[in-house]
Amino acid sequence: MRRTIRHTFSSKIAWFLYHTGCLLALRTLVRLFRKEGRIVILAYHRVGPGNDDASPAVPPSDFERHVKYLLKRFRVIPLEQALIEIKGHAPIPDDAVVLTFDDPYRDHFRYAFPILVRNRVPAIFFLTTEPIESGSLPWYDEVYRTLTHIDPSIRDRITFATGLSDDLKGLLNPVFSRHGEIRKARVLACIESLKSFPDRKARALVTELTGALSPHLPPGESERSILNWAEVSEMDASGMTIGAHTRTHPILTHVSLPEAKEEIRGSKEAIEKVLGHPVDFFAYPNGRKGDFSDETIEIVRTSGYVGSCTTIGAANDRTVSPYCLRRICLGQPSVHWLDFKITMSLLL
Ligand SMILES: [Zn+2]
Repeated sequence: MRRTIRHTFSSKIAWFLYHTGCLLALRTLVRLFRKEGRIVILAYHRVGPGNDDASPAVPPSDFERHVKYLLKRFRVIPLEQALIEIKGHAPIPDDAVVLTFDDPYRDHFRYAFPILVRNRVPAIFFLTTEPIESGSLPWYDEVYRTLTHIDPSIRDRITFATGLSDDLKGLLNPVFSRHGEIRKARVLACIESLKSFPDRKARALVTELTGALSPHLPPGESERSILNWAEVSEMDASGMTIGAHTRTHPILTHVSLPEAKEEIRGSKEAIEKVLGHPVDFFAYPNGRKGDFSDETIEIVRTSGYVGSCTTIGAANDRTVSPYCLRRICLGQPSVHWLDFKITMSLLL
């Protein structure tokens, strides 16, 4: 609750600063005193009309507003160009923005891709390859859908179920309110808790959870929500960049180094086999500090990638390692929030 109040308050401040021109003035002022520009890399997860997965979606109309706004205020450049400028010997000429998308959602093709093409804006799509091959949802979305569409009769009994492991009961109990209703914020907290387990353990718990509970999906929910290779090829052929994001989306520090190597190289090889050209960029699953290590960075480098993205929220200058590029996750779909987040990352 406290977090929601803080979020609403921040959003109101962002709205005020944006509509009074303060954000633009702040950026102009800072740019006057800074010798060179910075590069802000945005990380989108979902663009689409639905809001029924672990990552909240940006509605397509809002995304088009983002694109038009970014084109008006910034250089919008591909990640390849950003890397040249970050590694370059000359100062970054001016502030710039890069658009990136994580995970192989079909919504990226259906909603984001046409808007990008229409506005001639470059972007990179980081793909986990196993869901594309199997057509199944990433485990965190499967958990989210299972828990938010749970059969009510099971929901009432779940706390007292005897067949479930103590670990799973411990995860599920806080998800239900006293009246047996599902609290979405607690479902997201449950997913975050699952991510803290070693990968093998987390996957065993997910299998146990999805096996024990049967979601009642409303009509339309079972429609294919993962990209297929034909759609990936079409985006690649039209000038979008395709990057890799592991095979099965484990947190790389929660698996052994040989497994991390297989995930990092396997996804690159799978995409290259379909597209017929090198895949140069990688994004670490989850991408926060502690989700990757010096060893995993070294595997990424020696696997032939030229750069990789984290979700460490800051702008990039020429001191940043090409294998630890920072990205901003938005969290809210409005343009004033987008402008606020970009401006704050350029100021700090
Ligand atoms: Zn991801």
